[in-house]
Amino acid sequence: RYHLRVCGAAGCLSCGSGELKEALEKEVDRQSMTGQVEVKSVGCLGLCTAGPLVQVEPGGVLYQQLHVSDATAVVASLASGPAAGLCCPTDQHFFSRQTKIVLENCGRIDPERIEEYIACQGYTALYRALRELTPREIIDEITASGLRGRGGAGYPTGLKWTTVSKAISENKFVICNGDEGDPGAFMDRSVLESDPHRVLEGMIIAGYATGAHTGFIYVRAEYPLAVKRLRKALSQAERLGILGKNIFNSGFGFDIQVRLGAGAFVCGEETALIASIEGRTGRPRSRPPYPAESGLKGYPTLINNVETLANIAPIIRHGGDWFSSIGTEKSKGTKVFALAGRVRNTGLIEVPMGTSLRDIVFEIGGGIPGNGTFKAVQTGGPSGGCVPAQYLDMPVDYESLAGVGSIMGSGGMIVMDQSSCMVDVARFFMEFCRTESCGKCLPCRVGTAQIHNILSRIASGFGRSADLAAVEELCDLVKNTSLCGLGQTAPNPVLSTLRYFREEYLSHIEGKR
Ligand code: SF4
Repeated sequence: RYHLRVCGAAGCLSCGSGELKEALEKEVDRQSMTGQVEVKSVGCLGLCTAGPLVQVEPGGVLYQQLHVSDATAVVASLASGPAAGLCCPTDQHFFSRQTKIVLENCGRIDPERIEEYIACQGYTALYRALRELTPREIIDEITASGLRGRGGAGYPTGLKWTTVSKAISENKFVICNGDEGDPGAFMDRSVLESDPHRVLEGMIIAGYATGAHTGFIYVRAEYPLAVKRLRKALSQAERLGILGKNIFNSGFGFDIQVRLGAGAFVCGEETALIASIEGRTGRPRSRPPYPAESGLKGYPTLINNVETLANIAPIIRHGGDWFSSIGTEKSKGTKVFALAGRVRNTGLIEVPMGTSLRDIVFEIGGGIPGNGTFKAVQTGGPSGGCVPAQYLDMPVDYESLAGVGSIMGSGGMIVMDQSSCMVDVARFFMEFCRTESCGKCLPCRVGTAQIHNILSRIASGFGRSADLAAVEELCDLVKNTSLCGLGQTAPNPVLSTLRYFREEYLSHIEGKR
């Protein structure tokens, strides 16, 4: 029996994979192959640039950039061999250089069918956790794994879980932060669209380990497909008793609700996110107290992002030592990146921590299109920085990125070539931060606007010789006196471009550009 796996994630759907699936189903019927072929929708196959994608199993032949009119040839190829001209080579480094833990089911299972998740060992980690392990043993395993938060700051997950578990309270909560807002980032969206049960499994285990019985998933309303699949996954899990009062007859109960964010970038900040769930305006508050001590409704609250929670089930299945054997000394496991910009293979990738930037951009990413020259890569979105070519051989991990003035962030990676103006890049990210500033504190509210004004002046050729010193002074002020992470990191793209591409700023000011 053949399986035609049609990518049903947002990227391929936007290029017509929904219509393609229907055409394939009709064609299977027309070529009298019903019963021999199953056409099914799967999550993201990764190589978004080549969509719509269809993979044939068995055999693994991958078809790319298909049109509805290709359905006849694809179905006929099941009997006659791969259809010439439509195949995407699967021996390329884009596929062979990746290590998939978080994305192991993406592109394999139908995200809307819990049976397929269960068939791939889904919920076995939860079963083991609830029936065989104590909360302490689970936290020990997560601590041993060395997993760090994938949302940006890289805080040790085991430590966070320990703090919440030790808090004495009649009520606790687990929150999954799916408020992905970095320009160019789509890791969390893809995971939620492609494998929502994996996130639910991680949340329930987190609840058991920390003593919480209620969870919230906070997702952007701009991710309607992810929300739809999450809601479907929740109702399927409830129907099978995987959510509810007495999961797997363990005596432990857990419920999860979905909350939609209205698209404010600042709501990715933990305290703003909590305020938003409570029905208040999503604005950060000063910390301490940290949410692990006093979070949602004043109760201890564990907040982890989508990718962090997606790592939990494999860690429980294979053990913390297995996870910590992957990656670098201080950055364990893998990292999912959304590879975008001036690179041949744009898409969703997962690599071991410590993989070099060169491998990511030139091996997996296929290099710069049109014989272009690599100029820089922006990691960490508006909170990150531009890493220039001289660091291409740097291992990508939390420490190395921080050492060159950027951050890991949640995993957005935007590649730039020689055509990119770095003043424009800095201005773009500062405009983003200025727009997304909640306005609560003066340094961020006014400082981002002032920096943006000066950058605009420089970019349009009216810069003054004193502008760079003024920008640096303002960046220092905003970075060190803003209340939350948005303001504290907003200057990073400006500072990193000033550090590595200062001559471009000077050229603008001197009228040479
Ligand atoms: Fe709001 Fe910016 Fe202050 Fe954060 S730093 S609280 S986003 S004004």
